[in-house]
Amino acid sequence: MPTRYDLDRDALADLLTGEPRYRIEQVWDGLHRQLAAPDELTTLPKALRARLTDELPAALDPVATSATPDGDTVKWLFGLDGGARVETVLMHYPDRTTVCVSTQAGCAMGCGFCATGQAGFQRHLTTGEIVEQVVRAARAARDGGRRLGNVVFMGMGEPLANYDRVWPAVRRIHDDLGLSARHLTLSTVGLVPGIRRLAAEDLPVNLAVSLHAANDALRDELVPIGRRYPLTVLMAACADYLRAKGRRLSFEWALIDGTNDRASDADELAELARSLPLPAHVNLIPLNPTPGYPTRGTPRAGVRRFRHLLEERGVNATVRRNRGVDIDAACGQLAARVSRVELTARAR
Ligand code: SAH
Ligand code: SF4
Repeated sequence: MPTRYDLDRDALADLLTGEPRYRIEQVWDGLHRQLAAPDELTTLPKALRARLTDELPAALDPVATSATPDGDTVKWLFGLDGGARVETVLMHYPDRTTVCVSTQAGCAMGCGFCATGQAGFQRHLTTGEIVEQVVRAARAARDGGRRLGNVVFMGMGEPLANYDRVWPAVRRIHDDLGLSARHLTLSTVGLVPGIRRLAAEDLPVNLAVSLHAANDALRDELVPIGRRYPLTVLMAACADYLRAKGRRLSFEWALIDGTNDRASDADELAELARSLPLPAHVNLIPLNPTPGYPTRGTPRAGVRRFRHLLEERGVNATVRRNRGVDIDAACGQLAARVSRVELTARAR
C-alpha cells in the first residue's frame, strides 16, 4: 500500500474519485503546506478524514528519539515497512535549521569508515519515506518556533544509487513543501552516471561530492566505488555539472589521522579543487568514530593545519562541527541501532 507521501497529485485525485474537485487541493495542501496528518484536516468531512487516515498511512514509525542536552540536534530512529530502520537528524543553528535525511536503509557502497556502509545494504527508501522525513522534521521545527530551511541528503544511503525515488522527492520538497533548490544538497560518493543525470534536471540543487582522497590509489582504498569511477572521470562529471548549473560544488573530506591529512594530501586536494571551472569549496569533517573502523579522526590541531594549507593554496575550506557525536547522530555514524542512551530515554 502506498503511504501518505508516496502519492502524487494524480494518484490522490484517483483516490478522491467521487469527491468534489476542490478536495484534491484541500488534501494536498493539508499534507504539504500545513504538514498535517489526514485526521487533523478538520475542514474535511469526518467520514473522509477517517477514510484517508486508513488509506494514507504514515510510512515512518518513530521507534526512538534522542536529542543533545541543548536540544540543537535531534535524531529520530524510524521503523519502516518490512522491518528496516533509518535515521533522520534535525539540526538547529543560530541562523538556520537543517534536516539530514536518509535515502536508503543501509548502503551498498561499502566505505569502511562509515557506520552505514559497515551495516551493508537493506533496501531503497520510497519517495514517500524520504518526503515524510522532511515533513516530520519541518513539523518538529515549527513546533519549536523554527522554520526548516534546508535539506541535506547526507543521512543513510547513497542518494544517486536510488535516483528514481530520490529525484521525485527532491521535486516534491521543492514544489510542494516550498524549499528552494539552493537550499537542497545532494551528497554523493561519486556515482558519475547519477551526477550526469542530475546535470540534466531543471532544478539547480547543490552537489556535494565525498572525495576523501585526491589520488586514485588512496581513494580506491577508502571509497571502493572509486575503482569504477576514477578521479579523472569523476572530475569531468563535476565540471559538467558546474557548467550546467552555474553553482559551485563542494567536496567532502573526512579527515582521517595519518591517512589523508598530510601536506601532500592538501596539495593534491587543492589541485583537484582548482581544476574545476569554479574552485570547489571543501568541507572538512574530522572523522567520527564508528564501531568497525579503528583509525581515529585527525586531532584538532591537525585539522587547523590542513585547512590552513588549503587556504594557502587558494581553496576555501570549512570545518564542519561535529554535530550530535554524543547521540551517534554525526556524519557517518548513522547505523539505525537503538543505542543504550536511547533505550534509557525510551524507558523513561
Ligand atoms: N552516501 C553519500 C551520503 C551519505 S554519507 C555520501 O557518501 O556522500 C554523508 C557524508 O558523511 C559523506 O560525506 C560521508 O563521506 C561522510 N562520512 C561517512 N562516514 C563518516 C565518518 N565516520 N565520519 C565523518 N564523516 C563520515
Ligand atoms: Fe554509503 Fe556514503 Fe557511507 Fe559510503 S559514506 S558507505 S556512500 S553512506
